Amino acid sequence: MENLETAIAQIKQELPGLCLMENEPMSAHSSFKIGGPARALAVPSDVSSLSKICHILKLNKLAPMLLGNGTNILFPDEGLPELFIISTEKLTKMFLLPDGAIYAEAGVSLAKLSSFAQQNGLQGLEFASGIPGTVGGGLLMNAGAYGGELKDVVESVVYYFLPQQTLLEAPAEACGFGYRTSNFKTQGGCAILSAVFRPEKGDKDQIAAKMRELNEKRREKQPLDLPSAGSAFKRPEGHFAAALIEQAGLKGYTVGGAQVSEKHSGFVVNKGNATSKDVYDLMMHVRNTVYTQTGVFLEPEIIILPPDYALKDETPDAPIYRIDVNEETLPEE
Ligand SMILES: Cc1cc2nc3c(=O)[nH]c(=O)nc-3n(C[C@H](O)[C@H](O)[C@H](O)COP(=O)(O)OP(=O)(O)OC[C@H]3O[C@@H](n4cnc5c(N)ncnc54)[C@H](O)[C@@H]3O)c2cc1C
Repeated sequence: MENLETAIAQIKQELPGLCLMENEPMSAHSSFKIGGPARALAVPSDVSSLSKICHILKLNKLAPMLLGNGTNILFPDEGLPELFIISTEKLTKMFLLPDGAIYAEAGVSLAKLSSFAQQNGLQGLEFASGIPGTVGGGLLMNAGAYGGELKDVVESVVYYFLPQQTLLEAPAEACGFGYRTSNFKTQGGCAILSAVFRPEKGDKDQIAAKMRELNEKRREKQPLDLPSAGSAFKRPEGHFAAALIEQAGLKGYTVGGAQVSEKHSGFVVNKGNATSKDVYDLMMHVRNTVYTQTGVFLEPEIIILPPDYALKDETPDAPIYRIDVNEETLPEE
């Protein structure tokens, strides 16, 4: 905490023009609309100020948390003594490269990326048009839907690697993409800055029709009228989380203001005044009930902060992500 205060003072001194929000409620930055204040939120105007913030944090033995649209995170009610870096305000450039690929910065929304591809007659990103995240958060999670995943269309990723304080570019094959995971998630220490996507050439009208069809499906099946963070649990191998939850009789199950959606059992929704503890307790109950009834462990897809508040007890490897400054950790080449 002391280190964080020193770092914040240094950041203010060295980057006087930086937009730095202090004690900012994270409920305002989360699709769940849940979360107490984070100590600070920085909005770097470019890569050089982002690198500078990371450098100061590292000097103080701290790591930043990157934040996209906050559509996959449960922030704690009591707040967090952390400095978050927001990508969505300034890191939003997107353009076509001379060879026809798309360059997009971390803060570009997946919806915009998908529309941009469609407008340029490029197919393969239709699945992403309804995912409410950003390029940065999407790549870290290897976001996907309806049979598509970002890993299928991304060619390379540029990221700031905190332990070495260098900018690196990794081809997609070196990013360790898997089902809702990547090296960025499992190894930590990476601030994704931009990526090159290479969708295939296609017919604009057909691409648009596909996007409409998928978004219609989403509206029909998902509780988009209520705050949530998307699917609460990953799809366990050979099963569907929503079906297991429904079969366990948990559709509509409620703890405080949190509820297993009555429209889609894979979603946990905030009915109005849910706390992070409500969501956490609900997810624990769901996971334990499903495990007792079926022997299948549901692993959270939502990132629950802080790490020691995560569904950790009997789950073999509850995945919790935070950027860890670990000198030993090197990206896979
Ligand atoms: C209604 C709804 C529907 C959804 N549907 C889908 C779906 O169909 N498929 C799917 O995969 N997901 C879905 N999601 C979940 C979520 O939108 C995705 O996981 C998305 O990719 C998260 O992006 P984000 O920008 O919001 O990331 P955030 O929630 O802001 O962050 C997610 C993680 O990425 C890290 N991160 C963010 N930006 C960076 C960066 N630049 N560098 C390094 N780390 C970073 C954060 O620290 C955090 O650990 C849905 C969510 C909602 C609310």
